[in-house]
Amino acid sequence: MKEMDKKVIIITGAAMGLGLAAAQEFATRGAKQVLVDYNKEALEKAADEIRAEFPDAEIVTHVADVSKEEDVKAYVELAESSFGRIDGLYNNAGIEGRQAPLAEYNLDVFRKVVDINLMGVYFGMRHVIPVMQKQKYGRIVNVASVGGIRGVVNQTPYVATKHAVSGMTKNAAIEYGKDGILTNAIAPGAILTPMVAEAFKQVNPDNPEAAEREYSQRNPTRALGQPKDVAKLVAFLISEENGYVNGQTIAIDGGESNLY
Ligand code: NAD
Repeated sequence: MKEMDKKVIIITGAAMGLGLAAAQEFATRGAKQVLVDYNKEALEKAADEIRAEFPDAEIVTHVADVSKEEDVKAYVELAESSFGRIDGLYNNAGIEGRQAPLAEYNLDVFRKVVDINLMGVYFGMRHVIPVMQKQKYGRIVNVASVGGIRGVVNQTPYVATKHAVSGMTKNAAIEYGKDGILTNAIAPGAILTPMVAEAFKQVNPDNPEAAEREYSQRNPTRALGQPKDVAKLVAFLISEENGYVNGQTIAIDGGESNLY
């Protein structure tokens, strides 16, 4: 019997990066999982990798765009019809947008970041919370960012939506704690995932490795974070081991957000 046997977890943005690392971590703990992503090919590849490593893993995949409410309803219905309950939601899918100063930001990109990072996280909670209320149990982890507690130059919509995620997390926590639902957010710093690799290319197109080196030297640990570091924190917050942490935005950034 593994520690998360019988627990049913939904992960959005599960095809790569932080979502995939969490799916691997939950598989080691025996959870049943609904893996959601809008990149079908990458999602199937990720699920195949997990099944190869953990042949007993119970995994279903679902191609969905979290910014579309009907897609979100569908992944929630799939979780219920496949496994009969939902214990955890890792509301992780998100995009960074392009880098540009506030007044010059492309409006279509701005709206896309809002639709995915803010509305996608909201729709996830909107449709999962009623299921968790019936069970009188649930754990939600929303993905904010250090950009959800600090400003980040040239990333206005990202920073705005990640602050919003932190705010919605507080509201869910105070409204649904009475139903046995604990809701928290994580605020990762620079964790080496495909999204961050892409950001280094935008910062220094000729030499992204130099941007990565420079960035890691600013961190108190002189290193970037690894997706598995984040997965361990998420696994705690989304498990029954978390009995009383609710409404927090927890930085996982090597201490960098404390630097002045
Ligand atoms: P990533 O780009 O490596 O992976 C994100 C995954 O989400 C991809 O598989 C992508 O296809 C999927 N996705 C994006 N939009 C989607 C949508 N509308 N519907 C369904 N799936 C969608 O990114 P990552 O670095 O793993 O980031 C994951 C989350 O963590 C994001 O919310 C991001 O803002 C946040 N974050 C990451 C870092 C970091 O350093 N990597 C830091 C702070 C916050």
